[in-house]
Amino acid sequence: MLVNYPISAAQDNNWVHECIYETISFIFKSLNQAAAMPEWPGILPQRHRERLKSRTTVKALLERVENISAQLTAEQREKTLLLINNQNDIAGLLVGTTAPLVIEPEIKPLTDCLKLVFLEGFRLLTETGSRDAHYKAIYDSLTVKTCPFCGYETFEAPGQKREDEDHYLLKDKYITSAANLFNLVPMGGKCNKSYKLQQDLLFKDNIRRKALNPYGTIKAEISLINTTPITLLDEKPDWNISISPDIEETRTWNEVFSIEERLKETVLSPNFEAVLSDIGDFLRHLDLERKSSNDQVLAGLVKFEYYKKRNPEQGLGYLKDKVAGMLRFHFESGNPLVVALVRNTLPQIEAA
Ligand SMILES: [Zn+2]
Repeated sequence: MLVNYPISAAQDNNWVHECIYETISFIFKSLNQAAAMPEWPGILPQRHRERLKSRTTVKALLERVENISAQLTAEQREKTLLLINNQNDIAGLLVGTTAPLVIEPEIKPLTDCLKLVFLEGFRLLTETGSRDAHYKAIYDSLTVKTCPFCGYETFEAPGQKREDEDHYLLKDKYITSAANLFNLVPMGGKCNKSYKLQQDLLFKDNIRRKALNPYGTIKAEISLINTTPITLLDEKPDWNISISPDIEETRTWNEVFSIEERLKETVLSPNFEAVLSDIGDFLRHLDLERKSSNDQVLAGLVKFEYYKKRNPEQGLGYLKDKVAGMLRFHFESGNPLVVALVRNTLPQIEAA
């Protein structure tokens, strides 16, 4: 992805997940110590008790957790807790320092029930307003209000129709992280429904892979500098997209979201004419014309690139500064076709 989300957006609004997690730990601990189980809502952590005590579905499900857990051994409960901790170490799973645990058959009756609890927790995120608060914090943090996975899908403002909230790690497989906001990522509908779908970010063909953490610090940069500009004047460039840093995490992102292909076909090729036209207009405002020298035109092109970098467009125009940078690079190295292409955008001013 091209921008990271602020950790605080997840941390400050994660109380539903925390509440469920702490209640399950409390149930296990009480059973291990053969301590009397308090009546509802006494099993909920004190600090969140008021907010969740009237929710009857989660109450019924947590009572089922209690009953099933009572039939298991302390070791089996411990195993279950390890699984929950493992599936919620989202950062460790993504960066590859934590290996995902497999659900063992002996604890399956309990994990089947936990799946329902955490799915109910996910549903409660909308009902309790946590989801909207989470989205607003993320939306407010974005300088450009677009999906950071593709860079061009527009995000609706908070209060409008909700953007997709993607389970970054699949909720059917990593069942206990279904309500954890660190595993929930606002994403444009195309990225979510047409590209990511049910792909497992942690595995491809059963081979473990690393993936970018949306709430982490590593993000991708795009460069077009290796693009072959044109070989004929009326051609489109043969786009070459370099993604940096070139690490497994960014390669997974590129693969899962078809980044290169989408940027070439949807963003770069259809908008190339528009960039040339923008360049022409910009140079005209600098009073450049066909008789201007190559040095003057180059200086104007540098200014255009700088301007676009400082004032990035939203949506499909978001790579215009990179396209300008690519043309500037080849103009500077004296590529005659690029020089001609840029000069062709200049107005022809007739002598009076
Ligand atoms: Zn997107």
